[in-house]
Amino acid sequence: MARVALVTGGQRGIGAAISEMLRDQGRSVVASYAGNEDAARAFTERTGIPCRKFDVGDFEQCKAAIAAIKEEFGPVEILVNNAGITRDGTMKRMNRDMWDQVIDTNLGSCFNLCKLVWDDMTAGKFGRIVNIGSINGQAGQYGQVNYAAAKSGIHGFTKALAQEGARANITVNAIAPGYVDTEMVRAVPPDVLEKIVARIPVGRLGQAEDIARGVCFLTADDADFITGSTLSINGGQHMY
Ligand code: NDP
Repeated sequence: MARVALVTGGQRGIGAAISEMLRDQGRSVVASYAGNEDAARAFTERTGIPCRKFDVGDFEQCKAAIAAIKEEFGPVEILVNNAGITRDGTMKRMNRDMWDQVIDTNLGSCFNLCKLVWDDMTAGKFGRIVNIGSINGQAGQYGQVNYAAAKSGIHGFTKALAQEGARANITVNAIAPGYVDTEMVRAVPPDVLEKIVARIPVGRLGQAEDIARGVCFLTADDADFITGSTLSINGGQHMY
């Protein structure tokens, strides 16, 4: 039986590449999304991968979704916490809502979903969890105290949970992408983006597939000796 993989935010951007590559590796993939129905419909039509809508920052919605996925496909054995948002602003402009939304969606989601799949992974003596962090969680970024805190939190969360899962063959790793060519990055003003690309040693933005390859590596059945690590995939922009 193919192992069930849940990729949050898995129908567009980096998540879509992760979903497709995991599917190509023989996984039974479910992609989640927040509300972009057009993207979800187009993705399922193109790939055949089913999409399920729920807010990853809302524990009760996650609980209902995980139960429904288990019922329909089986217990989640591979979890990729990829869904994320930015709400940028300097401290002067940032308000409490911007802080809460980014912390809940990027970091709270990791707690929600790991908590909800943990018992089944423990019982099945198999689990592969990959949390998508960010170069900006490693190095900080002007105007992103909320996002940098959430992503940095993911890196600590990963190392702590890895210790709890190790004896049950549950690995927990993080990937810290650099700047990847998705809608999130296309929202950056062109002059700022040009300066960012100039600082990337390999001389280009990342592609979603660059990150997906890392996820496949970390979620392989025989990748059981890699846990608690953060894999930087950033074209050499930040060596950590
Ligand atoms: P996109 O903005 O392209 O896609 C975000 C995805 O997350 C969408 O599928 C979206 O669903 C989903 N999502 C957002 N909020 C929620 C929510 N509350 N509940 C459920 N799903 C949600 O992002 P990217 O592909 O660029 O980024 C993917 C991950 O990689 C994020 O965690 C991001 O922080 C991280 N990252 C990205 C970098 C980059 O350069 N792009 C660099 C470093 C890290 P919907 O379509 O329905 O809105």
